[in-house]
Amino acid sequence: MARTTIWHPFTQHGLEPLETEIMRAKGAWLETTDNRRILDAISSWWVVTHGHRHPAIVEAIKTQADRLDQVIFAGFTHPSADALAYKLVSIAPPGLAHVFFSDSGSTSVEVALKMALGYWRGIGEPRTRIAALEHGYHGDTIGTMSAGSRGLFNATYEPLLFDVVHIPFPVAGREQATLDALDAACRDAPLAALVVEPLIAGAGGMKIYSAATLAEMKRICAHHGALLIADEVMTGWGRTGTLFACEQAGITPDIMCLAKGITGGSLPLAATLASPAVYDAHFSEDRTRTLFHSSSFTANAICCAAALANIGIWEEESVLDRIAAVSEMQLSQIAALADDARFANPRCLGTIGAIDLRVPDGGYLAAAGPALRAHFLNNGVLLRPLGNTIYVMPPYCVTADDLARAYGAIREIPAEITSA
Ligand SMILES: *Cc1c(COP(=O)(O)O)cnc(C)c1O
Repeated sequence: MARTTIWHPFTQHGLEPLETEIMRAKGAWLETTDNRRILDAISSWWVVTHGHRHPAIVEAIKTQADRLDQVIFAGFTHPSADALAYKLVSIAPPGLAHVFFSDSGSTSVEVALKMALGYWRGIGEPRTRIAALEHGYHGDTIGTMSAGSRGLFNATYEPLLFDVVHIPFPVAGREQATLDALDAACRDAPLAALVVEPLIAGAGGMKIYSAATLAEMKRICAHHGALLIADEVMTGWGRTGTLFACEQAGITPDIMCLAKGITGGSLPLAATLASPAVYDAHFSEDRTRTLFHSSSFTANAICCAAALANIGIWEEESVLDRIAAVSEMQLSQIAALADDARFANPRCLGTIGAIDLRVPDGGYLAAAGPALRAHFLNNGVLLRPLGNTIYVMPPYCVTADDLARAYGAIREIPAEITSA
């Protein structure tokens, strides 16, 4: 393998072939420089919701770029940020009233953790203990890796990570163990916050849990005064069947993190929404109670305009109907694999379909990953399994034929990969 000038994310350049170059994209499809078409069956790493280059978003970006590109956001604001903050508060679970902008999912979670500690310090009862769900993923910065599950991806950095209380994942049928562990953690010592991905652990392997369990976790946190941070970076913007996953549990978290689909997946932007209590604990004439966080591109005007256009699409088009149709297609495609002995644990949540490939052992996975990706790409489909979990997470404009193509490629996984 050749050394490359560009150092790609999550890429072992010593093992993986040269990258595919994409020249254009439209809807659910990517086009390579050499004119091959590839179905974007993972929404370009979970960010693209309506489809690539939705005309309303493209138009909003152009218009905003012609007016205001970027302005410092301390001491200044601009109309797109103002409008976006009001819209976000109006569509978020009721009770979230304040919006802090940043530029990636990781920073939105970092900000959430800082808000939580700032809250406890602000009300004069400092708490710093953070709990997180097993199999969680919250980003790749040091703070968010600390909150995430530990393993291959962060072993090198382990000495820099802070301790968190890991609560067992609420596996179907064993939810009570999770709730008991959370309750025990709260009784052991005061907890500042519990951070969870609502309803589904994404990067942790598309592991799904019930809305009732999420509601119970919220209840236990509230009972002990611990804040609940909902990391909706992946689940937000319709992924799980509702605009936000928390809606399905009927809960309002104390802090909610949004990124990925907030601009329809067109530009980087993130928002951390907070309850009045969290904001008020920082609101003071005392400078030491300031939320000391900023990114250079906080609330970038072009990104905010793209996010406003995304919400406009939600208001003007029947996005939830489209999502329901994609969910139906996913259910039938996944059901068709249920009897296939090569697979296990077929599951769906909203627009996400996932299944596990039965494999001999973990070490084998590292070899199967690149082989699977190459197989899918050769069939014109962008899929990127998580270990032995194959998942399909398309943009909402995907057609039944498109999905049939993705699942066809899954069905045709060569025997040498499954039995290696
Ligand atoms: C992707 C993801 C993040 C990190 O977002 P980035 O924009 O990649 O920093 C955080 N939390 C969850 C649940 C995610 O899926």
